[in-house]
Amino acid sequence: MTLRTGEQYIESMRNMNLQVYMFGKKVECPADDPILRPSLNSVRMTYDLAQLPEFEDLMTATSHLTGEKINRFTHIHQSAKDLMNKVKMQRLLGQKTAACFQRCVGMDASNAVYSTTYEIDQKYGTHYHENFVNFLKQVQKEDWTVDGAMTDPKGDRGKAPHEQDDPDLFLHVVERRPDGIVVRGAKAHQTGFINSHEVIVMPTIAMREADKEYAVSFHCRTDTEGIFMIVGRQSCDTRKVEGAPMDTGNPEFGGTEALVIFDNVFIPNNQIFLNGEVEFAGMMVERFAGYHRQSYGGCKVGVGDVLIGATALIADYNGCARASHIKDKIIEMQHLNETLYSCGIACSALGTKTESGNYLIDLLLANVCKQNVTRFPYEIVRLAEDIAGGLMVTAPSELDLRDPKLGKYVEKYLKGVGVVSTENRLKVLRLIENLCLGTAAVGYRTESMHGAGSPQAQRIMISRQGNLEMKKELAKELAHVTE
Ligand code: SF4
Ligand code: FE
Repeated sequence: MTLRTGEQYIESMRNMNLQVYMFGKKVECPADDPILRPSLNSVRMTYDLAQLPEFEDLMTATSHLTGEKINRFTHIHQSAKDLMNKVKMQRLLGQKTAACFQRCVGMDASNAVYSTTYEIDQKYGTHYHENFVNFLKQVQKEDWTVDGAMTDPKGDRGKAPHEQDDPDLFLHVVERRPDGIVVRGAKAHQTGFINSHEVIVMPTIAMREADKEYAVSFHCRTDTEGIFMIVGRQSCDTRKVEGAPMDTGNPEFGGTEALVIFDNVFIPNNQIFLNGEVEFAGMMVERFAGYHRQSYGGCKVGVGDVLIGATALIADYNGCARASHIKDKIIEMQHLNETLYSCGIACSALGTKTESGNYLIDLLLANVCKQNVTRFPYEIVRLAEDIAGGLMVTAPSELDLRDPKLGKYVEKYLKGVGVVSTENRLKVLRLIENLCLGTAAVGYRTESMHGAGSPQAQRIMISRQGNLEMKKELAKELAHVTE
């Protein structure tokens, strides 16, 4: 099997023995849980679209390891064009799901680990790259979904991992055995862990010698003994079980995050990618973060396309589409969205080859991309709310619309232009609500701020990569300054 169908993917997730908890209870079959299912559907789209001839170029690639056709989400980028195709693929999936489709984290982790393990082996004669390549061959063959787990809970932000009162606040090695290691800790905000077959765990920050036990990276099955997940709440999440699908705004798709606990998990030697080589923790983090910051110039743009479309529709339905200020606000939304896309494409176009042979984005531009993503979706949301009007948060439920007594009043008084049904008007308003404030806002708005690193993390990278000294020299030369 090299390209799984969506149905085969869903079936494979049903067969996993995942330990998932939500609202204080164990979820027996996460794949069929009505609150979790929309997030599984989003990942499913990464399989379904890969089956369609019209998306073959974007959704699939040729494995550099086997020459087989594979899903692009399991690919190691071989050129700047691959990097650009990745961003285009993410925009497409954002357009089709209006949610986080989760599978990018594993792709970004794979590309970061691929090049970093190569460089560790060069220095230390370790076999991490070989471990990774063997793993990747299996991922490509089985078309697995892989999560990438980086963010530790971090406890006191002013202290290094080894200085924390509780040593488990960063995931670390607690025991070394001849055949492997035992790790303990947790990874927070894990997008898609529940919908993944495998996980690549990485450290969360650059480290020093004293943090040696924390400089660890490996892969394992997501249902390995000792791993369990606590699902995060999302605003409006229980609307999915109230029998009013219209109220969810996007009944089919969603995203999901979980706190994942690693409670003394055994990792065999051949699954390890980093184990105490502290100086490489920073490289792994920087590269993964760079790839994921590039990713946001694709996925968030696709979701932005849906929000812009919904906003233009509601302007039509409200009868105000011809007002010049409405037209101008929609132009502004498009301008902001395409600016994000430009950044995603630019950092890809300027990608360069690493020592291992895969392609790395331009790190400065990838960080600029994500820094813009921490701002522009907020403005896009503000403009969407401006145009949609207050009804996006005050409209009654679908249950009222369907009610024999109340329905006719909802129909009558919430009508917009004559040719559009009240039902359609309410559906679009709910979609806007979902994207701006509801379950999808996790993946669009707040994730734009904190996903792939909070804004300050990008500013640190911009200051490192921005080459300020060179710019001072430019100024001095032109002003004839001699020091
Ligand atoms: Fe992919 Fe975007 Fe979700 Fe990250 S936030 S996993 S880039 S869809
Ligand atoms: Fe994300």
